[in-house]
Amino acid sequence: MQEAPMSFKARAERALADPTLKLAIDRTTGTAERKRAVAMTQFPQFEAARECGKRIKDHVIAHLDHYLLEFERNAIASGAKVHWARTAEEASQIVVSLCRQAGAKRVTRVKSMLGEEIGLPHALDEAGIERVETDLAEHIVQLGGDRPSHIVWPSMHRTREQVSEMFKRSHRAPHREETIEAMVDSARRELRDKFLSADVAISGANFLVADTGATCTVTNEGNAELTTTPPRVHIVTAGIEKLVPTTAHAFAMLRLLVRSATGADVTQYTTFHCGPKQPGDRDGPEEFHIVLVDNGRTRMLREGLKEMLRCIRCGACMNHCVVFRQLGGHVYGGTYPGPMGAVLTPVFDGLKSSRDLPHACTLNGKCQEVCPVDIPLPTLLRGWRDRSWREGLEPASMRVGMGLFTFVASRPRLYRLATAVAIRVMRLFSRGGTVRGMPGLGAWTAHREFPAPAERSFMAMYKDLEKGQ
Ligand code: SF4
Repeated sequence: MQEAPMSFKARAERALADPTLKLAIDRTTGTAERKRAVAMTQFPQFEAARECGKRIKDHVIAHLDHYLLEFERNAIASGAKVHWARTAEEASQIVVSLCRQAGAKRVTRVKSMLGEEIGLPHALDEAGIERVETDLAEHIVQLGGDRPSHIVWPSMHRTREQVSEMFKRSHRAPHREETIEAMVDSARRELRDKFLSADVAISGANFLVADTGATCTVTNEGNAELTTTPPRVHIVTAGIEKLVPTTAHAFAMLRLLVRSATGADVTQYTTFHCGPKQPGDRDGPEEFHIVLVDNGRTRMLREGLKEMLRCIRCGACMNHCVVFRQLGGHVYGGTYPGPMGAVLTPVFDGLKSSRDLPHACTLNGKCQEVCPVDIPLPTLLRGWRDRSWREGLEPASMRVGMGLFTFVASRPRLYRLATAVAIRVMRLFSRGGTVRGMPGLGAWTAHREFPAPAERSFMAMYKDLEKGQ
């Protein structure tokens, strides 16, 4: 019998009870936060660059029809074949059928978050095509049989010690020394012949350049180049929001992306793929396909979520999110975790099944503050909460509770009476300055402190002030 999916609350409780996970999250997000902070001190033009990046993305989103057609025209002119996919299923079917046409037995993948979004790993496994994840972190995720838990550090939920064990169990010639360098060498040895023997390369793209028809990919490991160069066929999958007008615009966005994602000034490798191998080229694929994926993106334009299409998948919002840093990424349940995932998952999976995500937020605004394209994430999350309420998705207890509160709060005398009673009851359950074990408050006090009521209420103090006391 198939196990019923766990609720968000159950997943959160499991994550909170896992000290190893907490250690892994702290190590990664703490380092990312520190590195970004240093990068910002060395890049005083950040605010101006951010405004510029925001305008580029808003301009493209407002003229998406124009830039998509321009990109398609130029990509075809360079020899690429362009495919359009409305849904995740359509996109993964297109990729699988291209792999079948190429007679692929083994494919290598790089930059694969969109692949996760469209369910490509599962579709390839179902089709009996061996897939090799080539990003070091994705390789760890594949060995562990997991899903990525972060969009930049997909294996963030694993500690170094766990990865070492995993490599020793799975690699043909594992490391002997317990150093990061030895472990990276072990992965390199394991992957090298797979790069060379793959039939098809499948990559994502960080940007699609409209005026050249090129796709742009950035990595720090060089695995994009190793993945996409040897195979006869290269398939790029990209969301339609990845467009920028020109190469200069791609570089303007890169300045923001790299600093926000890793705190570095530049990524080690930035590659523009422009069509298949041409006569005289020494290497490159003979066939070059680009699958442009909608999967809810045009619906986001219609449904008041167009700012979310600015997202360049840097991960800064999750590195600075107080909720993500307690729980990690798997708790969010969808492809994308953290604040951006809490906005996107209801688009992809439906609000009914992901209703909890917009509530898993303190609305402290830190995510928007660090977002390199100034996406108003808290506002978008509040929009989902509002919609959830209007569509009647909130539980009956919440609806009744809010109804009662509205009734009482809109009647001042009743409100004063009710708060006076509530304060007295809370005092009965107050110990050491906090309320503990009070019936009805358990969901809050299980993981947080609820301060004991003050000696005098604000209204009472205000009255004294009015009387001049
Ligand atoms: S929402 Fe902003 S901070 Fe978060 S991943 Fe997207 S671009 Fe980065």
